[in-house]
Formats: sequence, structure tokens, C-alpha cells
Amino acid sequence: MNDRPPIRVLPPEVAARIAAGEVIERPASVVKELVENALDAGATRIEVEIEGGGADRIRVSDDGHGIPPEQVADAFERHATSKLRSEHDLYAVRTLGFRGEALAAIAAAADVDLVSRPAAQTAGATLRLRNGRTERQGSAAAAPGTSIEVRDLFASLPARRRFLRATRSETQAVARVVTDYALAYPEVAFRLTADGRNALAAPGSGDPRDAVAAVHGAEVAAALLPAHAERAAVIEGEVEAARCEVVGLVGPPSLHRASRAAIHVVANGRAVVARALLPAVELGYEGLLPGGRHPVALIRITVPPDQVDVNVHPQKAEVRFRHERLVFAAVQAAVRSALAGTPHLVPDSPQFASMPVFTPRPPGQEVEPRAWPGFDFDTTAASAPSDVEGLTGRDVIAGARVASMVEREAPPPRVDGGVPLLRPMGQIESTYIVAESSDGMVLVDQHAAHERVLYEAVRARLAAGERPSQPLLQSVLATLSAPQAALLAGGASDLEAIGWEVEAADGAAVIVRAVPAALAGRDVARALTDYLDRLDAEERLSGPDRAAATLACRAAVMAGDRLDATQQRALLDALARCETPHTCPHGRPTMLHLSRASLERSFGRR
Ligand code: ADP
Ligand code: MG
Repeated sequence: MNDRPPIRVLPPEVAARIAAGEVIERPASVVKELVENALDAGATRIEVEIEGGGADRIRVSDDGHGIPPEQVADAFERHATSKLRSEHDLYAVRTLGFRGEALAAIAAAADVDLVSRPAAQTAGATLRLRNGRTERQGSAAAAPGTSIEVRDLFASLPARRRFLRATRSETQAVARVVTDYALAYPEVAFRLTADGRNALAAPGSGDPRDAVAAVHGAEVAAALLPAHAERAAVIEGEVEAARCEVVGLVGPPSLHRASRAAIHVVANGRAVVARALLPAVELGYEGLLPGGRHPVALIRITVPPDQVDVNVHPQKAEVRFRHERLVFAAVQAAVRSALAGTPHLVPDSPQFASMPVFTPRPPGQEVEPRAWPGFDFDTTAASAPSDVEGLTGRDVIAGARVASMVEREAPPPRVDGGVPLLRPMGQIESTYIVAESSDGMVLVDQHAAHERVLYEAVRARLAAGERPSQPLLQSVLATLSAPQAALLAGGASDLEAIGWEVEAADGAAVIVRAVPAALAGRDVARALTDYLDRLDAEERLSGPDRAAATLACRAAVMAGDRLDATQQRALLDALARCETPHTCPHGRPTMLHLSRASLERSFGRR
């Protein structure tokens, strides 16, 4: 016998409560929906008041176009909306709301009072709902616009009420919503009052800097740098080109924070949680921030409405871009554009992990590098490993690798009073170089450092249209695995740009005719398969940057390679000339700094 109850369709009130639970999770969700409605109504002024973190009372008032009296009751019906007419509209949403669920969900979870007056009406329509049902409807004197008050959220749903956090956290969550929208709509004046205290007041001047000032303070606002980038791509099989524009304000690297809370992302006017895009913002700062620190950034993304799906999350807090890579690239480019030319990281943290500063001298005041004993390292001899004297076995290779990175035409190393900024003292475990800096001691990861040096050199050559390639006297046959062959086929032009010349032969075999100069002297077939495997693992970068980073990694000295004093110095000098010396292309640090002050503190000298 099966005594399982039969399948039944739920009564509408139960269905409504279940649906409401998805839309309204906490007071901040109510505030978000009401603020979005106000913005959709064209408000220029939005006032939010909360008590008890919003659980006791929320009131959102706006000066938008209001709801005609005969429609106020309809607004609270499920799936009642003035913003969407057909399924078709769902794929090109231009308003923040579109599902017609929010007011119904709020009314199912709390007591609601509404007053709304379109400017053309002489009085406002009032509506009071209890348990989702109309209790009273009438009219009252009111300013044009809409005001909605929500009391005792989840009072009839004790299980949900218990899930609410302390007043302070709920207040914070509400503040985050209002903050995000104040930043997304600088032309709208926002005010947030929490338990009678003024928590935020954005003036609505239209200048995003004023909105930032209201949120993060005037000093941060003044320091922000404008960011902009546009990207477009014709995608096979798509009628419309993929397009993306990013404008924003981003903090200089010196403004770092302990969390990502000061990164605000707005997509088509919608404040979103953009987990997937945070790395794009941070990649733009690659090498400029100390480890574990995060930037301040306001990123506004605009794509054609049909290239973003806003209907993937019950609270519309996440969106899905149809051309995510394009958006990712545009965000990264915008941040980079803003930061180009900013000085390198200026450490003010007293911790061990703070980094040394390389300050270039003003043009014309460069000091000639001093002739150090042993500094006359011959870079021409370097391409032939056997020419490096006094080294054997893998040390010969290592020596050649270091030598190959010292550019003869490179500018002189940045020096400070005639002393190289980093003076090598020796190697630890054939992996780290110990060096004296102008302020204490620095420990350099030789592989990461060399990767950085080579990466920038390769990129500079790519930018100059050079293609440092070493033709092989005798071409070499290499056999590739299927994934390797696919990578080769997919990135052929990038590979060629950095110096590979590879031709398809039979089946899995390819003919290698030239190798990148940085890999000259290696076992050719092995160098190619290693390169392709490494390329596969390189997920953070794309296009020529990805090819360049891969080449840098394959060509760099390895941990365990012995370097003599001359090679150590050559590496440190080359690193000091880098644009972004503090991290390798993958974002790992190249060096650790122990400042004089922290040495003194550690040894009790002060
Ligand atoms: P949606 O925003 O998805 O349309 P809502 O349940 O949030 O659904 O709102 C239902 C309707 O009520 C809206 O489509 C709009 O016509 C009207 N409305 C809600 N809030 C306001 C407001 N503040 N000003 C003007 N109209 C509003
Ligand atoms: Mg809405």
C-alpha cells in the first residue's frame, strides 16, 4: 500500500508566499525593489527611511510619475507590471523591474501602506494591505510621486523573521543597496535615514564624483581617476556585433582596501554583484597593489539590452552577459587606461610584505650606471650558452637565459645616487636572491622576477612590431597531443607573433622552422610541447598577452638555477627597469621587502 499523499496544485496564497520568499529575503531586498521602482518611475529624489534594520519599518518615497488611482490595487497583483508587454520584451529589458512580482511579494510578507499621486492628479490615492489583501483604499493630500511604507517584515512568517541578522547587519545591507544605487544614478538625489540617523545623502548633481564623495568621502572622490574603454566584436553567426562600453572612476593604487566592498559594478544601470568581473577590475591593477589588498572602483558597463540576461537571479542581483569575455576585456582595459602613468605602488604599510619603490628620475637627470666590477657582462655572447664562462650543465642554460634578457638597447637601470637600487648579496636555495635596497632588504623570487622582465620585453617587441625569432638551420618534426594541436591551431597568429614558425605536417605531427629567440638553444620539440602545455594553463590572460606570458614563463630561469653575482645583478637591474616590477605576469609577487624600520623594530633598535 502506498499512503503517499496525491499531487495537488498549491493554493494561490501558498504559492505566493513561496515566490515571495525568493524575491524578499531580508529588508535590503525590499529596499532594493522599492528603490528600483522609484528609479523606473523617473524619480529625481529618493528618500529611504528604516527602523530596526528595516525589519520594523521601511519607507521609500520618490518624486516619480506615480500610479494612477484606478491602478494602485493592480500594482500589488502577482505578475502585474506596466513595464513588460510580451515575452519578446523580456529579451531587451530597459527598466529595472519587469516581472511584476516585487510589490506582490512585499505585500505577502509584510503590512504595506501606499500613497501615490501622478502629477496630473489633485490628490493622492491611498491603499493599505494586510496579509496581502486590500484593507482600505482612499485618497489623501500628497506631493506628486509615490511613498510606500512596509512594516513588520515577516511578522506572519516567524521562521523567516528568525533568519534576520542583528539590526546592525541588516542596516548595513540596506545601506549597501542605497549606496550602490546612489553611485549608479548620480543624477538622482538619495537620502538614507536609519533609526533617525542620517546614513547617506547623495546630492544628485549628476557628477559621479559627488556620489562617490557622499559614500566614500571627499578625499577618495578627489583622488579617483577616470576610466574608459569601448570594445566591439563581430561574432560568427550573430547578426548584431557584440558591443560593450565601460566608464568609471577608479582609485589610484595607493587607495587600497582590505576587502572588495569598495568595488561597485553597475551593468546597464543595474547595481549588480559581479563576481565574474571582479578579477577583471583587479587584473587592471596587476602588480600595483600589495598582496591581499583591493582597489576602490566604480565601474559602469553598458551593453545593448539584448546582450545581457537580467532574469537569471530571483532578486535580479546578478546578470549574465552574452559576450562575457568582451565585457571582461573592456573592464580590464578601462582600468588599465585609468592607471597608465600612475606611479608605482607607494608602500605605507609597516608590514614585511610592503614593496620597495622604484622612483624614476626626471628625464635628463638619469645617472649613468656605475661601472661595477664584473658588470661588463657580454650580452652578445649570451645567445650561445657555451660562451658563458665558469658554468656547467644546467647553470650554463640558466646563464644564457639571464643573459638573453639583458637588452643592449635598453635604457640604463634606474639608479639612485649612483648605486643600483637593488644590490645582490647572494642566493638562497638557488631560488631567491637576497639584495640590499635603498631601504633595508629585499628577497627576490628569481623565476617570478625573470618572468616579469621577459614578459615586458616580449610585449614591448610585440608592440613595436618586432618578431624576435630564431630560424632553425634544420627544421624539426614534433608530435603533438590532440589538445596541443588544438591550441596551436587556435592561437596560431599569437604564436607566430612571438617567434614560432610551425607548419602542420601529417596527422599529429608539425614541422618547426623557427623558435622564439628567448627559447633558442633548447630542445625544439620539447620547447614547443612545453610551451603549449603552459599556454593551456595560462587562463588569466588572453591573446598576445597570453602568448607573451607563456613565453616568459618557459624562458625564465627556474627555481634551483644557480646564478653568479653578475647574473643576479643583471636580473635585478632588468627588474628595476620594468614597468610593473612587483609581480610576475600571473600576479604573484616577485619580491618581499623588509624595510630598515622593520629591521630596527625587529631587533629592538627602536
Ligand atoms: P515591476 O517593477 O517588475 O513592474 P512591481 O511589483 O515592482 O513590478 O511593481 C508593479 C507596478 O507598480 C510597476 O510596473 C509600476 O507600474 C507600478 N509602480 C510600483 N512602484 C512604483 C513607483 N514608485 N512609482 C510609480 N509606479 C510604481
Ligand atoms: Mg519593481
